[in-house]
Amino acid sequence: MEGMISVDEWKEGSQLYFLTHLHSDHMKGLSSNWNKGPLVCSPITAKLFPYKFTDFDLSLLRVLEIGPTYSFSLLSPFSQLETEVQVTLIDADHCPGSVMYLFRGDKFKCRLYTGDFRWEATSERALLAKTKLLNALGNDTIDYLYMDNTYCNPLYSFPPREVIAQQVIDIIASHPEHDVIIAVNTLGKEDLLLRISRALNIKIWVRPERLQTMRLLGFGDIFTTNRSLTRVRAVPMYSFGIKTLEELNVLSTLEDYKALLIRPTIGILPSGLPWLMRGSNENDYSCGSDKSNIAAVPGAQVHKCKQVEGSSSFTKIGRYIYSLPYSDHSCFDELQEFIKLVQPLSLKGIVLSEHCNVDPCHYLGHLCKPDQVTEQPRKKLPRKDKPVVGCSKSFKRKKYMKFCKVRRSRVSLLRRLRCGAKITESVTAGCSISDS
Ligand SMILES: [Zn+2]
Repeated sequence: MEGMISVDEWKEGSQLYFLTHLHSDHMKGLSSNWNKGPLVCSPITAKLFPYKFTDFDLSLLRVLEIGPTYSFSLLSPFSQLETEVQVTLIDADHCPGSVMYLFRGDKFKCRLYTGDFRWEATSERALLAKTKLLNALGNDTIDYLYMDNTYCNPLYSFPPREVIAQQVIDIIASHPEHDVIIAVNTLGKEDLLLRISRALNIKIWVRPERLQTMRLLGFGDIFTTNRSLTRVRAVPMYSFGIKTLEELNVLSTLEDYKALLIRPTIGILPSGLPWLMRGSNENDYSCGSDKSNIAAVPGAQVHKCKQVEGSSSFTKIGRYIYSLPYSDHSCFDELQEFIKLVQPLSLKGIVLSEHCNVDPCHYLGHLCKPDQVTEQPRKKLPRKDKPVVGCSKSFKRKKYMKFCKVRRSRVSLLRRLRCGAKITESVTAGCSISDS
């Protein structure tokens, strides 16, 4: 059935399309020659949009502010009558421009699509977002919650980002004679780089395209493309690895290379993923040994690091890489708090990756409101149980099947482990919504 709106999903047939943020796993199918319909996004996303999609027809963008509630009139594919849909944007605190969408409408029910989000208890932004979300919700109950389940597993417990940022600063400060390379994606973790810059009074080297983005975001003066101005460089994840670090450190000892200003170098890997070493033995995943490759490994417990005052959360990978759980996604406790706050009737994960194959209802379904239709409160499953598919009878069969699609079988995961894990992008399941 033809839908009315789509979020982070770009198939033909919707009347309005919504983009949560500019990460590639949320834009698969979106391109510069887009012509399927109007695309809604936040002001910051709109600002960065032309640099991501150079030939995009910008007249198709519908830019909405965070906070106010907007109304759209759409055509019901069933009755062919107009129906009103309200939408409110909530700050997702994930990367610049990232938002959640709260939808409401008579036939539409109440739906919240979080996109990727971080819900830090200590963050002023999350507190503000919480107030705006509760104000926008009023007395309404969320019928369907589509949630970022990247780290929806009790294994994942991250300290607040400002705590980890300070640990990164301490590591850099304790290596005054070293160059430092920090692995980041093309968008995100700007706050970490800004904190480093301010605390150490140092510019950060970035590639020209990233400098352009930082200028658009108003941080241009802190970043540079001139390597001679700084010893700290932010590099793309794909150019970061143990071999690179080892080669730089070998070269730094050779007389011929001293003229090229190659110095001893450490690497910083700020990520919530469980980064481990991949060894020659197929089951050889260990931390801190001197192997040539790193990989994010599903189920690994490297970052099970509840914050202990005064302790550092870093894990050493090889001799030169410091891995720290600086995450732009919510960890398990934060997801739990979020669901306690919004108490949806139904819950659905939006992420499929090697690190996440757990139905969020397995751990968090018991926090949803009892199903008003069946009046069956959800039971908390014992953790030894295997994750289950589906979470609420409120999702009709069609939704249920869509839900199945975002999971990957345990067998397939184990097979992947045996074959050797590799770094891959996560896949995000978008959603199409109709008034059914
Ligand atoms: Zn993202």
